[in-house]
Amino acid sequence: MLIFTRIADLVALLDTHRRQERSIGFVPTMGALHKGHTSLFKRCKAENEVTVGSIYVNPTQFNDPKDLTNYPRTMVADKQKLDGLCDILFLPDTNEMYPEPPTDTYNFGELETTMEGAKRPGHFTGVAQIVRRFFEAILPNRAYFGLKDFQQYLIIMELVKQLNLSIEVVGCETVREKNGLAMSSRNALLTPEMREKATVLYNTLEWVKMAPDATESEAMNKIKSAGLTPEYFVIDRPNNRAFVAARAGEVRLIDNMSIIS
Ligand code: AMP
Repeated sequence: MLIFTRIADLVALLDTHRRQERSIGFVPTMGALHKGHTSLFKRCKAENEVTVGSIYVNPTQFNDPKDLTNYPRTMVADKQKLDGLCDILFLPDTNEMYPEPPTDTYNFGELETTMEGAKRPGHFTGVAQIVRRFFEAILPNRAYFGLKDFQQYLIIMELVKQLNLSIEVVGCETVREKNGLAMSSRNALLTPEMREKATVLYNTLEWVKMAPDATESEAMNKIKSAGLTPEYFVIDRPNNRAFVAARAGEVRLIDNMSIIS
């Protein structure tokens, strides 16, 4: 696995691959890698001749400075996990990604005013700022995103459309622990007790999937009863998907599920 920290070096190597007509797949991450991330890399490797990954904790997408400080960072273990799954790993720093403070703004309509958009003001602007910079440098044929962050996936599809980029955005299914908890870098911050309690998110999504009359307030109550603090539970019946965000102690978790049973 080759490691780059400079955009110019990465672009020069990718240009040689492109001249040889090799397909390039890209998996952006913020590190603290788990099996959810590695599933994206496996799919990318299977579908492309060159797999590029990035690890960069993007400050502009954190609306809560404490969340940015506490975000888990496990670079040595991350590199080991990517061995054999990634050809080129891009590890930029903030001077490289944002030589000037970013000023680009976006209009993603309703996506910015509902659920994650409403609860995390500025978050999707930050996501778009960093993904745009990655996309414009790497120009991958395909880019891989987890459906665990479903609204983010929709934002990226919209970004590609608005910037007129020829990149296929591939949505990958959520990888879960055996007990159903969606894998997340933030799970590392949960106490063992909270890790167990947090399975209520998955269990409630499953319950909604099975119960056509389930209501959002019933779902919120189930989550409260388990000792978490729900922020929202949205049942989007027309699009057959349910979404949840909740705090488990200090840790904010999100999950969603197709509710076609
Ligand atoms: P992050 O490092 O949290 O920014 O995530 C990097 C990518 O991995 C994003 O596209 C996430 O949606 C995806 N991802 C995170 N957790 C999971 C999971 N449990 N299953 C599948 N993909 C995931």
